Amino acid sequence: MERATICNGATRMAVIGAVVIAAANLAACATADARDTSIPASTDLQRVVDEAHARFKDLNDGKNANYIPILDTVPSELFGVVIATRDGRIYEAGDTDYTFSIQSTAKPFTAALVMQQYGGPQAVQDKIGVEPTGLPFNSKMAVELYDARSVNPLVNAGAIAAVSLVKADSEEQRWELVLGNLSGFAGESLALLNDVYESEYTTSWSNRGIANNLYNYERLYSDPEEALRVYTQQSSIGVNTRQLAIMGATLANGGVNPKTSKRLLDAAHVPELLAIMLTAGFYDESGYWSMWAGLPAKTGVGGGIIAVVPGRFAIAAFSPRLNEAGNSVRAQKAIQHIAGELGVGIFGPNPD
Ligand code: GLN
Repeated sequence: MERATICNGATRMAVIGAVVIAAANLAACATADARDTSIPASTDLQRVVDEAHARFKDLNDGKNANYIPILDTVPSELFGVVIATRDGRIYEAGDTDYTFSIQSTAKPFTAALVMQQYGGPQAVQDKIGVEPTGLPFNSKMAVELYDARSVNPLVNAGAIAAVSLVKADSEEQRWELVLGNLSGFAGESLALLNDVYESEYTTSWSNRGIANNLYNYERLYSDPEEALRVYTQQSSIGVNTRQLAIMGATLANGGVNPKTSKRLLDAAHVPELLAIMLTAGFYDESGYWSMWAGLPAKTGVGGGIIAVVPGRFAIAAFSPRLNEAGNSVRAQKAIQHIAGELGVGIFGPNPD
């Protein structure tokens, strides 16, 4: 906040006529990072987590995903809410120990791995794309509509392309790199949920079509079935809500995991990744989400959502019932409530 004060001073100096000095100061202001990096008091963070859980635990709208058969068997009443701060403090309520499949909440983190391997986000822009589709996560029409084909790394097409872009000598190594990277973000060893993988891979006709079509358009960078298998394994990794929150807190902490102090993403590339999350993390509801919560986020059909308050903390929530866009009903309500109560939307406070 000190730098913001200097900026105000420069503006005043310009008014009294010290034009040269003021211009120099204003130039410095333009590059200074005057973001609010404060963390709300512990009592407030625990209060909003408890409130969000209590307020939405009886909301029964939506239904479990069932196009992956096993997801329909996850108890629909489960509901966990967690805030993890950039210095690793945890505030939680509900079923935060329950392990569910990570699904698409993994996608930004594999995009981060690609950024790290290729020395920045240019490869993501050139080889995948960064525009929102405005269409559902599994849209085949988007692949035909847009020249980029895969469109962005947060829809299925772009996420399968991201997995294919991971530099690896073999399928085993590709999987180990993806799993190791996600474990790094979580700060704990994550593992495959075999029954989820079996259920998803044996019914993956839609994603297989997307992978083969991308390969045909030369927008997939490994064997398509290998990319599909590793992408499906990625989706089937087990996480709990606390681990999801730490993954988000790693982004809030400039790419360094607050538990392990390990760097997973260069600080310079965190804002670029968060920008993609803001514009595409909720698929065809990203506009609505930006307006009402104002936070970069990513959802998954397992019921998880991660939202990031840049430089400060992450909010994660999990509950299996989804709306039509495949986004958890309770989880998005809980996060929106917390963002509103704390006034942390990135464009300014969004009243709840
Ligand atoms: N693995 C899921 C799929 O490919 C992920 C979708 C999601 O979470 N939105 O359909």
